[in-house]
Amino acid sequence: QAVKSGTANYLHFTRSMRDDLKERLDLEDELRAAIRDNQLVLNYQPKVAIHGGEPVGGEALLRWQHPKRGIVPPGVFIPTAEETGLIVPIGEWVLRNAIKQIREWLDAGLPPIQIAVNVSERQFRWGHLPALIDVLLSESGIPPHLLQLEITETILPEDLEGALQQMRWIADRGVALALDDFGTGYSSLSYLRELPLDCLKVDRKFVMDMERDQSTRHIVEAIVAMAQAMDLKVVAEGIETPAQWEILKRLGVEEGQGYLFSRPMPADAFAEFIRHAAKPV
Ligand code: C2E
Ligand code: MG
Ligand code: MG
Ligand code: MG
Repeated sequence: QAVKSGTANYLHFTRSMRDDLKERLDLEDELRAAIRDNQLVLNYQPKVAIHGGEPVGGEALLRWQHPKRGIVPPGVFIPTAEETGLIVPIGEWVLRNAIKQIREWLDAGLPPIQIAVNVSERQFRWGHLPALIDVLLSESGIPPHLLQLEITETILPEDLEGALQQMRWIADRGVALALDDFGTGYSSLSYLRELPLDCLKVDRKFVMDMERDQSTRHIVEAIVAMAQAMDLKVVAEGIETPAQWEILKRLGVEEGQGYLFSRPMPADAFAEFIRHAAKPV
């Protein structure tokens, strides 16, 4: 009996492993097709000044317009893209298109604002990210400070020295760097100091818990104090309620992003949002 159910478990186990593997291989093939057939789209979410609520920038967020599955959010395919290395061509597509978009908005007379692009650790391991950015900046002629790269803390343990060198190079070029999802990883203060950062993005989890949990408010307060000491700007992610906005104002957080202000939206709608908000009153 025990042997039987053991065998059944084993079969079940291998079968589900095989299914997982097949699913991943299918997803990998489909992702290759997505790059080739232009199924990737960028949405943009405004970043606002906490004090007055006016837009000061935006974040490019990747969407996959799948022919059968509809719009696939990045949480579903970025992990596979990272595992398979497809994030390198995908990341190149994202950078190229975000920079092209910045150029078009400048040409259309939109007030110049900084656009952030998320970058994966794999793109630093690739080794050619600084060169790619250099080429894209020269080709487009956009002011480098209109581009910001968002990196997560997980980049760092892999190849800290290699990634650091590339970040310094990119920062020297005038591109801004933000540490995304701050507070969820393992950054030590000593390496935070090593990174050529402009800004810390406080993870949504903290913003979510702030209202009901005083110790979370204290943590955010401490992050703001630390950021000030290190001359970094603080951006809060995932602001959904007026009460959260109030608390962030009180804590002295400079910028924020969240559904309260706007969801990520297609490029045209984003441009409208910026144009509208920037109109003199
Ligand atoms: P992230 O960079 O931390 O982006 C913020 C995520 O929070 C976005 O999810 C955004 O839509 C969502 N968000 C913003 N405001 C709110 C809010 O008020 N409430 C809630 N519940 N969510 C909010 P999204 O677009 O699904 O992206 C998820 C993650 O996928 C991103 O997290 C980023 O890590 C990754 N990602 C997105 N685009 C790219 C990309 O082009 N390249 C890479 N490597 N990763 C990307
Ligand atoms: Mg981000
Ligand atoms: Mg984040
Ligand atoms: Mg995230």
